[in-house]
Amino acid sequence: MKSIVCGIDLGTTNSVIAFLKDGFPHAIPVEEGTAIVPSVVSFDPGNGSRWVGRRARNRRAAFPQHTVTSIKRLMGKDTMTAVGRGSFRPEELSSFILKYLAERASEQLGARIDQVVITVPAYFDDAQRRATIQAGELAGLDVVRIVNEPTAAALVYDHVPSDLDTDSPYVLVYDLGGGTFDVAVIEIKGEIKEVLASSGDTALGGDDFDERLQGYLLEELKRQADLPDLKPDLSLSVRLLDIAERAKISLSDRPYVEIHEVALGMVDGRPLNLDVELSRTEFESLTEDLVDRTMDIVAEVLKEAHLEASEIGKLILVGGATRMPAVHGALSELFEQTVAHSVDPDLCVALGAAIQGGLITGDSVGQILLDVTAHSLGIKTLDTVDPETGEPDCFSTIIRRNTRIPVSRAEVFWTVADGQEKINVEVFQGESPSCSQNTPIGDFLYPLESAPASSAVTVEFAYDREGLVRICVDQKGYDNRKEVTLDIRQRRVEETGQAEAVETPVNYIAEKARRLALNERLPEGVKREIMRVVQVYEEAIRAGEDEARMDELEDELLEILDQAEEELEAVE
Ligand code: AMP
Repeated sequence: MKSIVCGIDLGTTNSVIAFLKDGFPHAIPVEEGTAIVPSVVSFDPGNGSRWVGRRARNRRAAFPQHTVTSIKRLMGKDTMTAVGRGSFRPEELSSFILKYLAERASEQLGARIDQVVITVPAYFDDAQRRATIQAGELAGLDVVRIVNEPTAAALVYDHVPSDLDTDSPYVLVYDLGGGTFDVAVIEIKGEIKEVLASSGDTALGGDDFDERLQGYLLEELKRQADLPDLKPDLSLSVRLLDIAERAKISLSDRPYVEIHEVALGMVDGRPLNLDVELSRTEFESLTEDLVDRTMDIVAEVLKEAHLEASEIGKLILVGGATRMPAVHGALSELFEQTVAHSVDPDLCVALGAAIQGGLITGDSVGQILLDVTAHSLGIKTLDTVDPETGEPDCFSTIIRRNTRIPVSRAEVFWTVADGQEKINVEVFQGESPSCSQNTPIGDFLYPLESAPASSAVTVEFAYDREGLVRICVDQKGYDNRKEVTLDIRQRRVEETGQAEAVETPVNYIAEKARRLALNERLPEGVKREIMRVVQVYEEAIRAGEDEARMDELEDELLEILDQAEEELEAVE
């Protein structure tokens, strides 16, 4: 059997294994088609069986005392964790994750994996690095190199074609994961990448945003149920946290989220229901201080590296929580440049470790080709006017350049006059804040229902892999939706009426499925099955799965939607 070197991002929340094939790094989908594996180990105290990854995470709610998470936080400490039938050192627990990743990857690739590159945070001290090497050895692996996570991320961007015109050798890596935040400034001198300064907060991450929102939802629940003294039990807390995380993720792509949850719990024989509409703006004000804390640390690191923000040539985003627009906004404001996010922030570090592995064995690494939007895409709004013509000229971006496709993003805009009859939606692409400097793609009229000034209109762009953009305009609070399809390559707008008219772009299917899964008339089992398929599908999108796999999942999703619609017709 052939032997290959793999790169492993051994994370606090999730881990990823990747390898270099024909000069390109690939994350290996080791679990149900996804490469992102929860860094969780669970034991059966009875027979001593062990689970790792998704299955271990699923057991956590039922068997918290037999399940371990966040093992990375313990690395390098002289401590034992009593779990299942035994007691384990942190490196032993980490070795279970590494062994699982290597074995599953080996099965997938049909190759032996005995050499690995493992990444660690830049701030890891000697003891923590040694513990990581030991974990690899205990897993039967030869750890050929330990690489700093930000360095691995920078290595990936070395191989991404960039049109960023900068001579600066300094890169800032901003890594906001589930439970930790790290930031590093790296100096690039050809092949050599040196970490000039790094800092972070080991207790700050996406989870804190979830908890903030969970607190808000609990207050809403108390208010709606008229139970001011309600003390949530573990099951209610876990459900609220889960709802909060889903809402947070959804708000990264759209301006509002509607939460309708029934029977979250029972009080005096009465079900606890929750109905909340939350806007991104509200979510951002609930969590503003968390983003501010990360920015304080960014400022500290810049100071330590003796650099001004303007001297940074490139900003790299790592970690799932960097998908939040508030993070992009804060960074773009400080650095006055767009952030590099064309590589999946969940996979970037592992891909870098795989590249490092390839470089060690003398493989050549090619330029990574990405499916990203070449230009920013947005609409004309009235915020600024052209000084020469006095006409409105503000370009409001909806999908930013270098965003991975397929993608769907929505933004909210407001009408300007009472009883405004219509909006002319004018679509442009380009990077200038003025429409007159960008390329017009097309325009269409959207008739409005009579409403007072400043009523909200949501504009959603869904960009698929064929270069088609489905635009959906929705007047909030009215049954007034219009959809058009825009062919970016032909610069043509086609009015398509309702969703069924044209082949439905991918994220609409997921969106439709999510909506259908909320339908109370569907049996619970069907709703769960829809959500399961949607999750696999969305993870596959995030993991950048190939077209054949995406088509397969799309078919599966469409099939279950057809079935659900049949069920609904039957009950009607
Ligand atoms: P990581 O540790 O890098 O896997 O990041 C996990 C964190 O990223 C969790 O807190 C997730 O809720 C968060 N996350 C993943 N996707 C998104 C998204 N689209 N918007 C906001 N947060 C996200």
